[in-house]
Amino acid sequence: MSERNPYQMALEQLDKCAKMMKLDPNVHEILKYPKRVLCVNVPVKMDDGTVKVFQGFRSQHNDALGPFKGGIRYHPNVTMEEVMALSVWMTWKCAVAALPYGGSKGGVICNPKEMSVGEIERLSRGYFSAISVIVGPDRDIPAGDVNTSGREMAWFMDEYSRLRTYNVPGTVTGKPLPIGGSEGRVEATGKGVSIAGREGAKKLGIELRRADVVVQGFGNVGYHSAKFMSEFGCKITGLSDSKGGIYNPKGFNVDEVFRFKEKKGTLVGYPDAKEITNEELLERKCDILIPCALENQITEENAHRIKSRLVLEGANGPTTPEADEILHQSGVMVVPDILANAGGVSVSYFEWVQNLQNYYWSREEVNDKLDRLMVKAFNSVYETYLRYETDMRMAAYICAINRVTEAMRIRGWV
Ligand code: GLU
Repeated sequence: MSERNPYQMALEQLDKCAKMMKLDPNVHEILKYPKRVLCVNVPVKMDDGTVKVFQGFRSQHNDALGPFKGGIRYHPNVTMEEVMALSVWMTWKCAVAALPYGGSKGGVICNPKEMSVGEIERLSRGYFSAISVIVGPDRDIPAGDVNTSGREMAWFMDEYSRLRTYNVPGTVTGKPLPIGGSEGRVEATGKGVSIAGREGAKKLGIELRRADVVVQGFGNVGYHSAKFMSEFGCKITGLSDSKGGIYNPKGFNVDEVFRFKEKKGTLVGYPDAKEITNEELLERKCDILIPCALENQITEENAHRIKSRLVLEGANGPTTPEADEILHQSGVMVVPDILANAGGVSVSYFEWVQNLQNYYWSREEVNDKLDRLMVKAFNSVYETYLRYETDMRMAAYICAINRVTEAMRIRGWV
């Protein structure tokens, strides 16, 4: 598969949108660059006594609407440009969801699957301490992303609190419940994806109880998206992780597959399923396709073989601009990442609000607020989509860029 530079992709999407909405060139100029990118080199004592230096980044794109917000990923293929692109997408995502946040992202080049828990903890503390000069509850609030979860968030929160000498729970979101996490955060991104799916299906006349769904990626987002779609009555016919995919036209019990993966480390080998590759999985016939893995999955090479009617981007940046064009021409509705997976950062926002108030909400309250927020965001993007006669991605960009532009103008940046 051809690899696109994600930052180039983010710029192309911005350019296309700027043209369509006749964006003020001064605003366009500012939005092209992150406000700040920090590169850190973190020495870690490895279990064998050697010291290894890991490189990490934190990119802060735009904070016109509020403090920066965005996750931190651990992956061997992390690059500075990828982190920059992801920070741009966070600006749009927070704006689409109407959250009082700007966009940022962090990443560390490492392979946590080959590291011990102790090594990951020392790396996490070292990285967070290195970026602590630019993060904090009023400045930039990190969260989880690829290969990071509550465990790492707890270390981040603890490290930052140690540096400040008092507890600062609002410095990071996605924390475990006992240290200021929010009810509903773990499943929030997948829940948001399924709400976007429900709304998209309504518009396309897809009946969820008769719909076949394929999900690529079985991490937090993929698993929960599959789970909530199956709770809506959909049949989950295809699933995959980084090692490969499984297919069964009769549908999977998502929790059983999850338990299998927990035991074996992969869902490959799940009984009563046809084994297929990740590429084949994307091209399977289904009503709804949910890519929840990494960037660059739907490209100009395979886009014309996609057979679903609705694509929900659980992952960030899974579709290249060329593929977008092909899907749009063939009448496939793509609910873009910045809308489809905004449920995660939205409940992160709820968590932060609870931390700042020291007052905690029930799961029902969180889920109810999330549902209303996602429906409102979906509808405003959908109205823009109809008004501009464009695709859902451009519509989401227009909504987001309008909000950021208004804030920049009021603040006197342009
Ligand atoms: N990493 C997630 C995302 O890409 C969550 C970010 C957050 O909660 O701040 O949206």
